[in-house]
Amino acid sequence: MVAQRMSLFSVSGTANARAAAKAAAASGKEIIDLSAGEIWAETPEAVRRGAVAAINRNLNRYTDTVGTEQLREAIAKKLSVDTGQLWRADEIAVTAGAKQALFNAALALLNPGDEVIIPAPYWTTFPAQVSIAGARPVFVDTRANGYVPRIEDIRAAISPSTRAIVVNTPNNPTGAILDRELLNGITELALEHDFWVIFDECYGNFVFEPGKHEHIAAVNPEARRRIVVVNSFSKSLTLTGWRLGYLAAPREVISAAKALQSHTTSNPNVVAQHAVLAYFEDGDRSFERGLRARLALNRTRGLAILSRLRNVPPPPAQGGFYFYLDLSGLVGGRSRDGAIATADDVANLLLREAGVASVPGSAFGDPTGMRLSYGIPVDLLERGLESLVDTLNGLS
Ligand code: PLP
Repeated sequence: MVAQRMSLFSVSGTANARAAAKAAAASGKEIIDLSAGEIWAETPEAVRRGAVAAINRNLNRYTDTVGTEQLREAIAKKLSVDTGQLWRADEIAVTAGAKQALFNAALALLNPGDEVIIPAPYWTTFPAQVSIAGARPVFVDTRANGYVPRIEDIRAAISPSTRAIVVNTPNNPTGAILDRELLNGITELALEHDFWVIFDECYGNFVFEPGKHEHIAAVNPEARRRIVVVNSFSKSLTLTGWRLGYLAAPREVISAAKALQSHTTSNPNVVAQHAVLAYFEDGDRSFERGLRARLALNRTRGLAILSRLRNVPPPPAQGGFYFYLDLSGLVGGRSRDGAIATADDVANLLLREAGVASVPGSAFGDPTGMRLSYGIPVDLLERGLESLVDTLNGLS
């Protein structure tokens, strides 16, 4: 009934996990939801003020296709500070969240038959969008190396059809971060083999000691002509529902993104654009600092509880707001109800017995992993993790 391309992907595994948590909660059970890819926080004050002011000024009309000049300038300025290089407004496209930025990049850069290297475990949307564009994801397994891709594994995955690599640091779902040396190695491969680097830094604001978020465009300025940066205000300003992100890339790529947006969404939401511009103009970054401090506390408390797990190693959790558990020590074992064949079975068990919602690694190309979000109030987080640890330690 529907087009053939619809068989290339299905509803994202994270959305399915969220729906399972909601369904369990609707049946009256108390569920602590660690499945969401978002942080529970209030909206930054300057963003709220900017949105209300935009509404009261009757700003209700289309904007420039790739965002207002002022917002693109503000983003270019931020990137110039972050990378130590000059970025201009015409190298920026504001999008309806990072998802649209990535979609634009996939449609603008990939031809049918192209290959895109994606380190795995991966955020579930990367391969879906590559497939929609008619290209083929080629996965590089990072599990044996603490979820950090090895440069030799990336090199081995390159073929004459390689057109791009997705570099997501800090990584969703694993929380791993990529250091300067590795990023530099990736840019050298990109220049040598002439492919694009799609650099997703949506979690760049959340990196914990002793880690540091390195920007690939700062590591190797020469590679700038091959780099597409994707970022979002969803996580950094806790605005997931507002749908605002951006693409920063060479002008030809931005022109292609503009053509695409002109035929799809016309422009990113006008109120959201003015709200985020107001945040930039306000200049006070205490919201971001406060959020980072809150997540750092949740992370420390959460890691302390998870250290009681008997058959699961401590998660890397260097960045982002996820604990990623390696359940290979449990898969193949048994619960009271029967065999545990995959992380999906563990997730179902946790929902039933611990009242905890998680996302099984099958959503990220890893049948033995599990993602737990710690972006929720710390008391809930502690209760959820205590219950999870008791349940998992009870498995044989
Ligand atoms: N990139 C990564 C790695 C993500 O985890 C997400 C959302 O979870 C996105 C991009 C998309 O974010 P948004 O479209 O909300 O800006």
